[in-house]
Amino acid sequence: MLYDSVDTVSVAKLGPLHTIKSDVTTVLITGGAGFLGSQLCDIYIKRKDRVLCLDDLSTGRIANIAHLLDRPNFEFVRHDVTERYWTEAKIDLIYNMACPASPPRYQLDPIKTFWTNVHGAETLLELAKAKGARILQASTSEVYGDPDITPQPEEYHGNVNTMGPRACYDEGKRAVETLFYESGLRQGIDTRIARIFNTYGPRMDPADGRVVSNFVTQALRGDDITIYGDGLQTRSFCYVDDLLRGLVLLMHSEPPIHTPVNLGNPGEFTMRELAEIVIEEVGSKSGITFQPLPQDDPLQRCPDITQAKALLGWQPKVSLRQGLRRTIPYFARELRNPSPEIFV
Ligand code: NAD
Ligand code: UDP
Repeated sequence: MLYDSVDTVSVAKLGPLHTIKSDVTTVLITGGAGFLGSQLCDIYIKRKDRVLCLDDLSTGRIANIAHLLDRPNFEFVRHDVTERYWTEAKIDLIYNMACPASPPRYQLDPIKTFWTNVHGAETLLELAKAKGARILQASTSEVYGDPDITPQPEEYHGNVNTMGPRACYDEGKRAVETLFYESGLRQGIDTRIARIFNTYGPRMDPADGRVVSNFVTQALRGDDITIYGDGLQTRSFCYVDDLLRGLVLLMHSEPPIHTPVNLGNPGEFTMRELAEIVIEEVGSKSGITFQPLPQDDPLQRCPDITQAKALLGWQPKVSLRQGLRRTIPYFARELRNPSPEIFV
């Protein structure tokens, strides 16, 4: 097993799935070989539900799900969500997590990123309709773009450039929210939308270029930490276990919540602060270098989680330092012994 990090997710607390009429729940998780998706697979496998994991392995890794491959209630299918998927099996729940999340990765093929979101949501909503399944979309705080208010509540409509390097991701996710909204309204599909803020933890790809993976691996190697811009831009970092607990609560919420819900940790840090904390926690002698700020990089990002608290009884429990203490050993292991490439 690569790393089992779902320790604080109290799966038992979910209770019976009232609206699901069969004994064993079948859960389809797209992007199930990725950082977040693979840990969702773990949660449902632990519940002894049946998990169907779909992934094209573009940014995910079989190593993330290698420990599940021989489980009788787990199936992996290599599949691109922009293509229709069909199975005769029943499906109760669909988590649509498929999409590269790191800016350097989603900008490699922007048109593909846009269609992964839009066509991916289209094909999965069709499947949800055919199967009578409930479907949750992994949306993002990027729908707020470069926000001019902080913290950002769900009612804020955002400030997004339709033509910049981040637009393929931001506008793709915004279009998906619209598809979900209309499909729920007009076709009666039971939809859920999580607006996920920056999340980190074990099973992140050390080379994915996101700030936590970059800073921690740089600090562990003793390389300079690369801050883009002046480092005064802010982000709010949520530890993976907290985020997963929020996602599962949203998926299982009764009464259903069809409007978007922010899931993130309101603790807000500048990238300078993050660099200093990482250096301290790693005990590194790394210096800091400044590089140009990428175009359209949001200057601030902080979730208003009033709704998640009121509707789901959810709030994060893990502070940034606590989360880094659980994450740094994972990255250290990955640097010593990189996860093997596994072919299926
Ligand atoms: P990740 O890159 O680790 O996982 C994404 C997974 O989707 C990968 O396994 C990848 O191979 C798969 N995938 C990509 N395109 C696909 C396609 N066309 N067909 C099938 N599979 C495909 O990223 P993650 O951090 O686990 O993010 C998961 C989801 O959560 C994404 O939708 C992302 O937009 C969303 N999200 C994540 C964060 C975060 O901070 N981690 C923040 C906001 C939103
Ligand atoms: N960032 C940085 N150094 C890095 C990687 C990222 O300073 O090596 C900055 C980046 O410019 C952004 C913030 O960290 O302001 C978060 O970047 P990330 O790619 O993790 O996520 P996003 O920009 O999508 O929130």
